[in-house]
Amino acid sequence: MDDFHYRDGELYVEDVPVAAIAAAVGTPVYIYSQATFARHARVFREGMAAIPHVHLAYAIKANPNIAVLRVLANQGYGADVVSGGEMRRALAAGMSAADIVFSGVGKTVAELRDALAAGIGQFNLELEEEGVVLARLAHDRGVRAPAVLRVNPDVDAGTHAKISTGKAENKFGVPISEARAIFDRLAPLPGLDLRGVAIHIGSQLQSLAPLERAYARVGELVAELRAAGHVITHVDLGGGLGVPYRTDDVFPSPAELGAMVARVTADWDVTLMFEPGRVIAGNAGVLATKVVWVKPGVGDPWVIVDAAMNDLARPALYDAFHDFAAVRPSGERMSANIAGPVCESGDTFAKNRDIDAVASGDLAVFRTAGAYGATMASTYNSRALVPEVLVCGDKFAVVADRIDPGTIMAAERVPDWL
Ligand SMILES: *Cc1c(COP(=O)(O)O)cnc(C)c1O
Repeated sequence: MDDFHYRDGELYVEDVPVAAIAAAVGTPVYIYSQATFARHARVFREGMAAIPHVHLAYAIKANPNIAVLRVLANQGYGADVVSGGEMRRALAAGMSAADIVFSGVGKTVAELRDALAAGIGQFNLELEEEGVVLARLAHDRGVRAPAVLRVNPDVDAGTHAKISTGKAENKFGVPISEARAIFDRLAPLPGLDLRGVAIHIGSQLQSLAPLERAYARVGELVAELRAAGHVITHVDLGGGLGVPYRTDDVFPSPAELGAMVARVTADWDVTLMFEPGRVIAGNAGVLATKVVWVKPGVGDPWVIVDAAMNDLARPALYDAFHDFAAVRPSGERMSANIAGPVCESGDTFAKNRDIDAVASGDLAVFRTAGAYGATMASTYNSRALVPEVLVCGDKFAVVADRIDPGTIMAAERVPDWL
């Protein structure tokens, strides 16, 4: 089922025409389907149904809009956060602190302190020294910080280099070969409840094989830690499941992931934690845009749209593919390059792509823009910060305002010596 569909030749999100949102809010604008978010959350949870003890922590960096987080909270999800700001968002959305996992390779002392004060459910430690500092901060407060040690299993996730996180040369986790020694030193600290391990090997994974290899290594580590007398009650398996950006791409489903995990972890006897991000959010949103000009090129023409790399960075950052579709397709096709107005050649969404024929003034969408879209937006070239809209049935609401350049300028100062 797809909540982004054509009805009478016109693109709808659930029961709302994209054109109606564009008329009311302007373009560019991110449009999310609440039903799709809720369905993805449900399908992921159901995929893990065969596993006895599961904690689901939506990786909110994928799409941290507070309204989106509320949808996930209503589906029983906690959050995986990677900054104090994300922690504030999860709490503001009504998630309970106990359901929040704090990941991230550069948590500051201030962030650790605030997270302890908030009663965060688990700290995913990235290095031994972080554990020592956290233990001291917790001891000073008279509490024990629930924590797991993130290990780097040194597997190649087979994804884009910039979103691979589980190779030995990546900055994440401690080498799995050193985990036992670090555990021996950290576990006795009175301020720590060091209860398990975590991994996250990368994003947009198209195959379960690297995940299975990584999980198998974690299984060996859990046995080794237990043999050394450590009590292991939690293993955080991270996120990473990919989504099809191209319609004919095939990706493992949450149910297939769940079946693999159930098999690999059958004798672990722990609470398994998952941190899905993209698989929940990716296909739940589009970026709607208007064609500004169709400009002749040396080969194909340039379709210049009013969305740019500052609104959707993935093509410029990762060479990512986003399907482009007209809101009212005529049935004609054209071969074109698609680019935004920003003064960078990298502000190009597609080259020599076969697309719906469009002309100046036409509306179109970039599909599969719900994850790592609005959250990466900037105001580069003094463009407005892109707004977000959430659709539910025949209703829609602006869930993030367009931030005008004037508002950004109001936060700037000319010092009095000028
Ligand atoms: C980014 C991230 C995730 C989510 O990754 P997806 O590919 O979006 O599922 C989960 N855990 C950690 C630690 C992350 O950094």
